[in-house]
Amino acid sequence: MTPVTVFEGQKVALFGLGGSGLATATALKAGGAEVVAWDDNADSVARARDAGIGTQDLREADWSGFAALVLSPGVPLTHPEPHWTVRLAREAGTEIIGDIELFCRERRVRAPGAPFVAITGTNGKSTTTALIAHVLAQAGRDVQMGGNIGTAILSLAPPDAARIHVIEMSSFQIDLTPGLDPTVGVLMNITPDHLDRHGTMEQYAAIKERLISGSGLAVIGIDDGPSRAIAERRASDLVRVHVPTGDALCADALTVRDGIVRDPESTALADVTGIGSLRGAHNWQNAAVAVAVARALGLTGEEIQAGLSSFPGLPHRMEAVGRRGAVLFVNDSKATNADSTEKALTAFRDIHWILGGKAKEGGIFPLVPYFQRVAHAYLIGAASDAFAATLEGVVPYTRCETLEVAVPKAAENAAASGAPEPVVLLSPACASYDQFRNFEIRGDRFRELVQALP
Ligand code: ADP
Repeated sequence: MTPVTVFEGQKVALFGLGGSGLATATALKAGGAEVVAWDDNADSVARARDAGIGTQDLREADWSGFAALVLSPGVPLTHPEPHWTVRLAREAGTEIIGDIELFCRERRVRAPGAPFVAITGTNGKSTTTALIAHVLAQAGRDVQMGGNIGTAILSLAPPDAARIHVIEMSSFQIDLTPGLDPTVGVLMNITPDHLDRHGTMEQYAAIKERLISGSGLAVIGIDDGPSRAIAERRASDLVRVHVPTGDALCADALTVRDGIVRDPESTALADVTGIGSLRGAHNWQNAAVAVAVARALGLTGEEIQAGLSSFPGLPHRMEAVGRRGAVLFVNDSKATNADSTEKALTAFRDIHWILGGKAKEGGIFPLVPYFQRVAHAYLIGAASDAFAATLEGVVPYTRCETLEVAVPKAAENAAASGAPEPVVLLSPACASYDQFRNFEIRGDRFRELVQALP
């Protein structure tokens, strides 16, 4: 845990006791602050009380006594409308911050030079955060990984000159971190997402840019317009990362072509070809970013290559979960929309594709250009009728209703296909809610069914 001492002897309001909230309250209390915590969920309040945290309905509190409101990132600060605690705090002139801001302030007083890597972007945050942490740990560094992935930041070991914090940040977390000042700040990419929570694309991009503005070194993926514009506004201490799709090469960027990461002088820095956990051009961007960060933190070329090559990948993201003869089984349950599934369809051929669930707007129409890679489709869940209509006459399909039916059927067809390396791919392009509580449970079930095959 990282005790937060910067509010020692002061009273702090805290709203949101799920996930990181309780850890934050505990860290503040350990550092000597008086915490007054609340949540709309009575069970969460009870759990905090049991953990010795002071609780009170913040509607009834005297806000003049609070030095700050610490908010969970899940609680709306601006859109669709400010949460009631936000209004009360603003009326009282109380600053509103999140747990990563507390970490930044604690780092400044405790170990200002402690290496701190912050990663954001619309896609690839978790993979890249895990990859950077893995590469650094394999090279023998003391690494703490968390934030929007896994462990709440204040549950990690405290900042220290010999310890590297690798922290994934959502836009919501950046919004609550006015003093964000990472040693290395990473912006992967910006595409429309969560606009319901950020208003316009401009506002969304502006929040992402804040992470870059405060960074010592900035690493920016320049393959989309908004990210490229942010890179152009930054004059120095910048590494551009570019995965070209055509011939147009950006001369001053770290680039990846055919899986080889090169510096602007075209010197090869790393080779990602043949690394199963880093298949696909989207993962090349993730790998190149990791190379840039690891170089900035002083790792050698050999150390970086060894770390990339041994990366196990994250569960549910094009995760190889088994092989039966020539057939590879891949769990891409995290692909809850067509955009994500596109990444998987471009990474494989001879695909026996299990898809369906609760469809997103647009369904699988955007995937039509990749249908020639699909040998057969297996439909599950609520979207079956809609998806069958899109596949009709182009891709042979079987209505399976459930994963329990789809997995053995796909396995059997793939084995009988005679293709050199057929793939049974769960990449649903749908939310899971019609059949599973979340994408993790869906992916876990797929893995179990694969393991149960003869
Ligand atoms: P996030 O944490 O930002 O949601 P993840 O690392 O969990 O991202 O990856 C989620 C999905 O996003 C992956 O399954 C893949 O389809 C896609 N993805 C991963 N990396 C990238 C990238 N660099 N660019 C675009 N899409 C990506």
